[in-house]
Amino acid sequence: MTDTLRARLQAQQADLRAKDLWRTRHTLTSAQQPLVQYDGESVVNFSSNDYLGLANHPALIEAAVKASQQWGVGSGASHLVCGHQTPHHQLEESLAEYVGAERALVFSSGYMANLAVCTALLAKPDLILQDKLNHASLIDGARLSDAQFKRYAHADLRHARALLSDSQYRHCLILTDGVFSMDGDVAPLAELKALVDDVGGLLVVDDAHGFACVGDSGRGSLEQCGLTPQGNVLMMGTLGKALGNFGAFVAGDETYIEQLIQSARSYIYTTALPPAVAATTDAALSLVRTQGDELRAVLAQRISYFKTRAEQANLRLMPSKTAIQPLVVGDESVAMALSHYLFDAGFYVTAIRPPTVPTGSARLRFTLCATHTEQQIDELFNALACVSLDG
Ligand SMILES: *Cc1c(COP(=O)(O)O)cnc(C)c1O
Repeated sequence: MTDTLRARLQAQQADLRAKDLWRTRHTLTSAQQPLVQYDGESVVNFSSNDYLGLANHPALIEAAVKASQQWGVGSGASHLVCGHQTPHHQLEESLAEYVGAERALVFSSGYMANLAVCTALLAKPDLILQDKLNHASLIDGARLSDAQFKRYAHADLRHARALLSDSQYRHCLILTDGVFSMDGDVAPLAELKALVDDVGGLLVVDDAHGFACVGDSGRGSLEQCGLTPQGNVLMMGTLGKALGNFGAFVAGDETYIEQLIQSARSYIYTTALPPAVAATTDAALSLVRTQGDELRAVLAQRISYFKTRAEQANLRLMPSKTAIQPLVVGDESVAMALSHYLFDAGFYVTAIRPPTVPTGSARLRFTLCATHTEQQIDELFNALACVSLDG
């Protein structure tokens, strides 16, 4: 029995290798920053989500040390048992104030926050409608939910409307990435809000890649689209990307947040974040409040410089204005070969392959950080100039 299982898994793995879909982990032997050590090699990292360069920021390291001394290292229990500590509570208040919501609830990860939203607010007669390119955690959440589940073509309002009018449901929840994680474009949030207004539904925006980066004051893609997480709009944000730390939150009106506390299994049945992590994130948020405008201005400059260099090199990037700048090459073997070539040239750029993206759309996904220098971007394009990208 176990031998046949082992044989089956080995066959599956051989198949993944043969199709260039095998995933491997490189070990970072330095802190997360633009110039990293990977497996002992020095490379410029164009793959992290550390958009504002906070993951290794001296002020936050100091905050983490201090908080660990005060609060210890572990929370010791789940939030509803005895693990909910002052730093968690303060972070929730800061987050709610920052994004302009009645309340915010901190989760141990974005994955768990998304499972919570999909499962705790709805029951069988309800409907979850999602963008086809949403993050895997939203898809998994909907599969775990008792509600019905349908997906509309990427950013396609007409398709979303048609699915709604073809469906029988009590309440509906429309779920979308704010900034799409593999494409870098921003969802049509104002139009989606109008749609939920029409049908008395709820809009939930996963702003993992927009929070602290996008919008005039960094409040995310909702801000960019003139919206706030109030009324029939909820926001999920993660704390491990632009905030440089770890964890996530959901922000919105009291009733929805309280429902998550009462019934979300991915909130209730898991250990609370280490308190020092929450305190460090709160310090990161303060830093974003005071220096965010400056950091976002530098990031915007790096993005625009990257796009200009790509245009000069005749590279057709996807139409993204965010820090996520994908170059679709189509075939996964080509994407892998390019990623390997760039690694040897001193650049770490992950090849993103199916099932993370649709078949035939394998890509190199460049991500920019405020801490990248123009020179690093220049050197990247010098390396890219030496390869043919026509397959
Ligand atoms: C990273 C990400 C998540 C998951 O967040 P974690 O805190 O890493 O679990 C959810 N949604 C999107 C769009 C993401 O990019």
